[in-house]
Amino acid sequence: MINLDYSEHPVLDVRFVNDDLFELVLDRNGLEFAPGDCAAIYTTDEKSRPYSIASGSSEDDLRFVIRRMAGGEVSPWLAARKPGDSIRITPPFGWFRPGQGIGEAPFVFIATGTGIAPFLSYINTFDRPPEACLYGVRREADAIGLPQLAESCPTTLAVSREHTEHLHGRVTALLDRLPLDERTHYYGCGLESMVNEVSGWLLERGIAPRRIHREVFFHG
Ligand SMILES: Cc1cc2nc3c(=O)[nH]c(=O)nc-3n(C[C@H](O)[C@H](O)[C@H](O)COP(=O)(O)OP(=O)(O)OC[C@H]3O[C@@H](n4cnc5c(N)ncnc54)[C@H](O)[C@@H]3O)c2cc1C
Repeated sequence: MINLDYSEHPVLDVRFVNDDLFELVLDRNGLEFAPGDCAAIYTTDEKSRPYSIASGSSEDDLRFVIRRMAGGEVSPWLAARKPGDSIRITPPFGWFRPGQGIGEAPFVFIATGTGIAPFLSYINTFDRPPEACLYGVRREADAIGLPQLAESCPTTLAVSREHTEHLHGRVTALLDRLPLDERTHYYGCGLESMVNEVSGWLLERGIAPRRIHREVFFHG
């Protein structure tokens, strides 16, 4: 086994948002991280997957928002944890740094599904808000942290698999609402197809590649 400085974190809660989505709440146990960081979470039989931290870097809790994938090796195991269990994770890692290291430049967030996690971590850590947040989910009940996001910045939700008061369709249908200017930084996180489509759309409109920041959770 690679010798990493793993840490153990007691489970404080597993909060189901709906049948598929849950928040895994761990004792932070002094872990240091920057918004955008992931940690690989281990099962007791040494399976691991990376998950993006959703809590703020000064909060006592360490939170993740996780989709339980049917037949998956790790996410169903995590969904079955109980308060008092202990979970082993790697030191936080990552290069996706929403809103950070860009001085006073404006920035926007674009997420699908659990790809909202690093943006929630940003909002839970920093006061300077993004110019806008576009958030795509399958069902309205999958939208995590919506009131908090809406309080922080103009937030638009796209719901693809049911008709609601929000836009019906994919989040990429909302791209015309993005502020387009050469100073803005664009952060896309979630499904690979969305991240690619957003990147291509921005590049076609002359946005410099260094202002387009990408984090892919799921391929397809
Ligand atoms: C950098 C990074 C950060 C991540 N952060 C998060 C996070 O914050 N929250 C989160 O929920 N996940 C996150 N993921 C995804 C996570 O790491 C796992 O891939 C996911 O939880 C599935 O793992 P599993 O072991 O349960 O399923 P697996 O055993 O890996 O796969 C289960 C089944 O699901 C299928 N599958 C895979 N992708 C999809 C898809 N998009 N749609 C339908 N079926 C699919 C597989 O083909 C397989 O049949 C992140 C991934 C990366 C790379």
